[in-house]
Amino acid sequence: MSLVKEIIAKVKQRDPNEPEFRQAVIEVMESLETTADKHPEFLKAGIFERIVEPDRTIIFRVPWVDDKGEVRINRGFRIQFNNAIGPYKGGIRFHPSVNLSIMKFLGFEQIFKNSLTTLPMGGAKGGSDFDPKGKSEEEVMRFCHAFMSELFRHIGPDTDVPAGDIGVGGREIGYMFGYYKKIMNEHTGVLTGKGFDYGGSLIRPEATGYGAVYFAAEMLATRGLDFTGKTVAISGSGNVAQFAMEKANQLGGKVVTLCDSHATIVDEEGICGDKCDFVMELKNVRRGRIKEYADKFGSVCYLGDSVWDVIRQQGLRVDVAIPCATQNEIDGKNAEALVKNGCFCVAEGANMPSTPEAVRVFQENNLLFGPGKAANAGGVAVSGLEMSQNSLKMSWTREEVDGLLLKIMKGIHKASLEASEAYGKKGDYVAGANIAGFMKVAKAMLAYGIV
Ligand code: NDP
Repeated sequence: MSLVKEIIAKVKQRDPNEPEFRQAVIEVMESLETTADKHPEFLKAGIFERIVEPDRTIIFRVPWVDDKGEVRINRGFRIQFNNAIGPYKGGIRFHPSVNLSIMKFLGFEQIFKNSLTTLPMGGAKGGSDFDPKGKSEEEVMRFCHAFMSELFRHIGPDTDVPAGDIGVGGREIGYMFGYYKKIMNEHTGVLTGKGFDYGGSLIRPEATGYGAVYFAAEMLATRGLDFTGKTVAISGSGNVAQFAMEKANQLGGKVVTLCDSHATIVDEEGICGDKCDFVMELKNVRRGRIKEYADKFGSVCYLGDSVWDVIRQQGLRVDVAIPCATQNEIDGKNAEALVKNGCFCVAEGANMPSTPEAVRVFQENNLLFGPGKAANAGGVAVSGLEMSQNSLKMSWTREEVDGLLLKIMKGIHKASLEASEAYGKKGDYVAGANIAGFMKVAKAMLAYGIV
């Protein structure tokens, strides 16, 4: 049995109830087959076996009291996966679907993504099955404080620096940071995604979405193309989707779709200008549903269908797809429909939004396909820049941070492309990103001996 098959079999046996984690391990390990052949020293040091086992898995109870005075219990997680190249770093997700498998897949992906940024950050992820939807402001605050009342003992500016993710934006980071600051009596860069007034970085809210579009632009440029006049399908309507929409518009694209967990809207005139402002106010301030966009602007709305279902069912033509909602949102069938409807570029704003079948369809049809760990690395890259600014006790301008973000995204694109070529898979960004991200971490692990 090949090494990779052996490792996958071991993960399957050890973690039989973790399908998302297994999916991520299979994708990465299949890409690393050639590195195992070229680097027997990695094999000897057990690097491949060690890298699929988290350094530490923390699971804790989060008790809190709702507005009716009733006690509620949620489960909290922090997976400190690998700190070979820097302090643990990765987002916190609040969503009812959160479980150990999803936390481990995200933490595992984060190792390679963080390495690709070239900044010194290890991989981690955390979260809770708490659902912020429908909760009052006070309930969200109480929950965030309760969550941090346990998490604080596991994190620190040189140990582990969490950030936001699904269900965790500026508001939640503020509550968690405030509680940490109070109980530790320390104002340090222990979380990123903070408000600008208390240590946050300009461009951090924009970074993941902007970065995904910068990455897509780099891929398009390899074929002499750009965003001008291209029809762009975006899913989600949260942090990543909003700023992917803004940047795609700025670069001359026409964004025609958005969704939330309730509905998809299609606006073939383009979602731009005042319409973008409306979406941001709707989602960030009023926390309403995307259907309201259709009510206001008279566009089409499909209740219960994803963006990718709608593209397939309606035969909607798109050039570029930027999935920004959640894992496994594009399956093989919808990937085939995207190809049929003219799509030639997919940049993953979300983490693992394409199923393995969908990835196969994109690659077999020679689409430009940028996997999440490369295309959405802009968020953690600017989080890394937020950590640098906190350490230096200074803040950089929008232009400075945006310039660094663009440079990092170009660097990730180049490193992924070069690694794909060096290991015999030219143009395969999945293999390239996995290999480029892995090499630095593997070399560091090798240097430390068996720890
Ligand atoms: P948000 O919570 O801000 O937004 C998520 C959006 O996706 C919402 O519109 C949400 O709908 C929608 N959504 C979530 N789950 C589903 C579902 N099952 N079906 C349909 N729609 C769904 O999260 P982010 O924008 O921060 O994150 C989106 C993705 O990007 C995630 O995969 C995340 O891991 C990834 N990512 C985020 C980074 C960041 O910096 N924030 C960094 C790198 C990756 P609703 O409004 O109804 O909840």
